Amino acid sequence: MGVRRRLAAVIPLAVAEIVATVSAHARGTGSPDAETVYIVTARQTYDAAGLLAREATAWKDSLGRELVIAQLDPLQIGALSRHVHEREQRCGGFFAFASRPEAEAFIVRDRTAEAIALPLGGLYTIDNQATVGPWLAQVSEANIHATITTLSAFRNRYYASPYGRQAAEWIRDSWQALAAERDDATVELFQGCSNCSTQPSVILTVRGAELPDEVVVLGGHLDSITSAFSVPVPDLEQPAPGADDDASGIATLTEIIRISLASGWKPRRTVKFMGYAAEEVGLRGSAAIANRFRDDGINVIGVLQLDMTNYRQNVGRDLRIVSDFSNTALTTYFAELFDAYLVPLGGVRSALACNYGCSDHASWTSAGFPAGMVFEAGRPQNPNNPWDLGAFQSIHSTADTLANMGNSASNSVRFAQFGLAFAGELGKTYDGAEDAIFSDDFEVVVD
Ligand SMILES: [Zn+2]
Repeated sequence: MGVRRRLAAVIPLAVAEIVATVSAHARGTGSPDAETVYIVTARQTYDAAGLLAREATAWKDSLGRELVIAQLDPLQIGALSRHVHEREQRCGGFFAFASRPEAEAFIVRDRTAEAIALPLGGLYTIDNQATVGPWLAQVSEANIHATITTLSAFRNRYYASPYGRQAAEWIRDSWQALAAERDDATVELFQGCSNCSTQPSVILTVRGAELPDEVVVLGGHLDSITSAFSVPVPDLEQPAPGADDDASGIATLTEIIRISLASGWKPRRTVKFMGYAAEEVGLRGSAAIANRFRDDGINVIGVLQLDMTNYRQNVGRDLRIVSDFSNTALTTYFAELFDAYLVPLGGVRSALACNYGCSDHASWTSAGFPAGMVFEAGRPQNPNNPWDLGAFQSIHSTADTLANMGNSASNSVRFAQFGLAFAGELGKTYDGAEDAIFSDDFEVVVD
């Protein structure tokens, strides 16, 4: 339950006047980004970003962490976003809502504490080597490279631009082609996000053959952004390649889908692959889906988030398991999966705290579901900057390209292998028991 109190900070009048002027100007443009939004972020991030918003109010989430709800105009969102990716070297960092009541309801309904503690360890077993083992050697760097190349060739994948919708439709078509031979798989555009502009999320569902009501989710965000969009009236023609952030995650998911479906795998549980809309402007697509699933009472038993998988420079590790805003049993399971399947291949893992609202897994966690994230190996962290997460420094710029990652997708190969292990072990494999029963019956009849 949120506890509300007004921030003590008083906004200087001159600043308030400037903000009001900018907002009035922005509202007159009709552009989808020209409206103020209500953000929820960590108090620490809000203060460090130097924001001076009107009507900022202090709250606490279910973990007791200090949060702020603030009404921000596009320039202030730009300042917050720049702080998050330049100082904290990550995307995300805040949730965004169209109204203050929605932002307040989000905190009041927050179930992060419950989601972190869900005792699901008994579900998280490793006994499906027969399925997972043969998949691992099939991961193709060239395939991941090709998907990143295609996605980063869209002029941008900004949530409010025509290219952002086209990229979503391309992912839908690409996943549809991979599932074409499967009558147990469907691909859809999720349009039920009220603040995602024209960008849909993409969902591929493989229906569980035995436990269809138990749902496993693997996701990443399909949108991209640069700081050039953080102005009152963004030029929707701005380039934003987003090769690492997060074409790499979508490309990794696509390779997981290709290998698992081509193998004829029929999961016991339902497995859903998701490309989320509008992550870069406040985790909007994933929040809409997670809230819908909560309202519909869907039993999601584990969520894996892949956001930035491809950058690795001067570090010995291959992958970092995010430790915060994640289900504890699930992050333990991530480590066990890595040790079972990737350590024998020479993989090295470490851990990372990614802070508030780091990526789409936080939407799931806040809605009460067990979720977690694995993050790129990155580079050595700056010891003088406690915020530095050691990620690719060119994200949210036109330099977020494959060319600046050695023109290689090899670092994403480990993530595809990890995702295959997660899907195969948590989705399990339907063993064809119905066929066996039918055979037995048939034999009885013959006898
Ligand atoms: Zn991202």
